[in-house]
Amino acid sequence: MIIDAHTHRYPEELLGDPQSFAQLHKEWHWLELVSPKNKKSLQGWSTREKMIADMDKSEVERAVLLGWYWENPETCELQNQWCSQWIARDPDRFIGFLSLHPELQNSVESLKRSKDLGFIGIGECHPWLQGASIQNANWMNCMEFAAAEGWPVTFHVTEPVGHDYPSRVQTPFGEFLWLARQLPELKIILAHAGGLFPFYELNPKIRPELKNVHYDLAACPLLYDPEIYRKLIEVVGVKKILWGTDYPLRIFPATQKEPDFTTFKNLVLNETELSESERDAIFGNNLLALLPC
Ligand SMILES: [Zn+2]
Repeated sequence: MIIDAHTHRYPEELLGDPQSFAQLHKEWHWLELVSPKNKKSLQGWSTREKMIADMDKSEVERAVLLGWYWENPETCELQNQWCSQWIARDPDRFIGFLSLHPELQNSVESLKRSKDLGFIGIGECHPWLQGASIQNANWMNCMEFAAAEGWPVTFHVTEPVGHDYPSRVQTPFGEFLWLARQLPELKIILAHAGGLFPFYELNPKIRPELKNVHYDLAACPLLYDPEIYRKLIEVVGVKKILWGTDYPLRIFPATQKEPDFTTFKNLVLNETELSESERDAIFGNNLLALLPC
């Protein structure tokens, strides 16, 4: 079974005019990403029907619908309402992860309610962009809940050096290590090849503390040379790597007018020459193993 560990989705009423949505909800960072001032946007858009058709075309059976690190707690709640409807409508195709905000009121209570609605993870997280850090007390209560429930938590990761993109806000590597030490049972997924964080696993002193840290490949074609996939397997092992696209982002802007799943799937397959068991691991089994039973 092929599962995409990292996708996003928006309701159809937003698709025609994301700028007005962003202005209404004061989501300036997201506005800059989807509608940058001096550059062409990489953002693609998709309806439910198109997303499912695109998944079918590349034999992607299920996709994790990640939330977003909205700047305002109210927008996170709105995203969670949308997502609860999407996973209720297509429970066999979509896996729901929650949008979290450090200032959400009664956060653990709301996580419990979300569990009843079918959510089984948290992400995509970026508490720094939301004006806090991982060490925020409210945030850590939610991380403890996730650890106790066996929920994976996906973090957006930027490199300490390297790519620049609109309104970039750092995601300090030290804080991920801190979190892994605080909650060794928490299943942490660092997105975008962890911004090359996986290479710190070559340090034998910290490697044992990173045993529950995993890495998704979302948007990697925008960021790194294709050799990265095989190198990641060599460094951290095949079990820690999750294929994910960042759909509907256009991660092959030179050739891709519309987002799809097939181009990236084929790139990873062609670049890595995976064995059958490695392929099954990266393209679905590793994620399944992280989901709560
Ligand atoms: Zn991201």
